[in-house]
Amino acid sequence: MKTLLRNGKIFDGSGSEPFVADVLIEDDRIIKIAPNIEESAERIIDCEGLAVSPGFIDMHSHNDWFAPRENNHRFFIPFLEQGITTQVTGNCGACPFGYDKDSKYRDLVGSGIMDITKIKEDTSTLPAFAAAIKNLPVNMVPLYGHESARISVAGYDSRELTEEELKHTEEILEQALIDGAAGLSFGLMYEPDRYAPYEELRRAAAICAKHGKILTIHGRANSAVSTSYNPPVGGRAHNLRAIDEMEKLARDTGVKLQHSHLIFVGEKSWKTVDEALSIIKRLNDEGLDFKYDSYSLTFGASVITVVLPAWYLTMPKEKRSRGFAKLRLAFEIGLTKRVLGFNFNDIMMTWVAEGQETLIGKTVAQLAKEWDVSDLDAYIRLVELSEGHGLVLMHRYLTDEIVLRLMRDENCYFMTDAWIEERGMQNPSCFIGFPRFFKLARENDIPLKDIIHRMTGMAAERFVISERGALKEGYFADITVFDEKTIGPGTSDESRPQGISLVIVNGEIVVDNGKFTGKGDAGQLLLQK
Ligand SMILES: [Zn+2]
Repeated sequence: MKTLLRNGKIFDGSGSEPFVADVLIEDDRIIKIAPNIEESAERIIDCEGLAVSPGFIDMHSHNDWFAPRENNHRFFIPFLEQGITTQVTGNCGACPFGYDKDSKYRDLVGSGIMDITKIKEDTSTLPAFAAAIKNLPVNMVPLYGHESARISVAGYDSRELTEEELKHTEEILEQALIDGAAGLSFGLMYEPDRYAPYEELRRAAAICAKHGKILTIHGRANSAVSTSYNPPVGGRAHNLRAIDEMEKLARDTGVKLQHSHLIFVGEKSWKTVDEALSIIKRLNDEGLDFKYDSYSLTFGASVITVVLPAWYLTMPKEKRSRGFAKLRLAFEIGLTKRVLGFNFNDIMMTWVAEGQETLIGKTVAQLAKEWDVSDLDAYIRLVELSEGHGLVLMHRYLTDEIVLRLMRDENCYFMTDAWIEERGMQNPSCFIGFPRFFKLARENDIPLKDIIHRMTGMAAERFVISERGALKEGYFADITVFDEKTIGPGTSDESRPQGISLVIVNGEIVVDNGKFTGKGDAGQLLLQK
């Protein structure tokens, strides 16, 4: 089967100037790029006036959790429709494979949407996971999440592991790397990785370095103050301390390191942007391989309890409403708001509970007004109504000014860090994460070839994804065709993307005229042995 893309403006993914040419595809490969190709093809698609680029690579995804599920299309379609053809998964320390098969903790691997109990097949090894995936709509580059091994060995225990347990954990993670995982990830803000002593992390990073693979890290803090450090307030900004810790790991092991989702949560963290970027620049100047990725949007998905102190969460319900508990809570949340720099109108509900759908899409402050109660009371009511499981979009992760600064920074890569929720309101990043980078670039005179380079050639190189990320003869035909004048979010950031006409994965047309074609098995699990 041959497909000919006629007369497109070719952005080849290398960052060089575009040129007009035809692209001839045979089966899953690009076989020729030249002007006026004479050869006949079964499908000829007119791309006159349109940009033809390598398919976008989303460097930070959690879609591995959905890959082995039945009817998994809906979890992937929005990403295809925004032009993404490859996703790097297994981030933030969590992945649905690679655990002790006989572990009594098997069902605890993951958390929230990352729910291993929804996967019926054995996925205790990477080959078993690969076999459990019946069809894959996008190409997937799996990282191995360190927590999956640690949970299967010691559950959520906060203690130091014994040498025997540590060795067992390391065997599991090293096997995943040998079996083809592209690298390793840590989730240092989450249980149980947050309890891992430095030496445990150093040893895991050293194994990753030994295999020449990348380590991605969800840092211990994304804000100037956090509960990850003691005391929770004061001293060096916590998000910078989190970078210091990554720096130490990179220096001690020589591992290639990717700081996941560099964000600056809360107004008070924004003044640390300069220092964070200059540290990262200095490390690269010194010869360390230290990069980061970021969002195009200024908010991200979180849980309602994110600003709730641990003592309140563990307190029996009947005690919570007592005067003292409420006073202490009001004081602590007030303090968090002040030192972090956020408000209750920065927290938007995306899920509360069955029967509470009318609350979705509203902020805590809006609901407080509707209910005629204080912001704090509305917040507590939402925590109770959702039994602590409410989902939110948290604003003030970034500002458009910071997003633009990062987009221009040489060490920045792009990603969505989004997934489709099974209920409630979706995170707009699922639909417009990548298109919004184009809109921002267009409005702020950032060259298109540079934006495309970061989301294709640079990303492929970063994760050693071979024969992809570029339009080159002999490479896989992962291609996105779009209108450079209109690509972006629809009329609002919550809507579907616009301007994307065609998406091709391994030579198959998966999106035509902006819509999924129903071809849901064109992707491949890309293993690196
Ligand atoms: Zn993360």
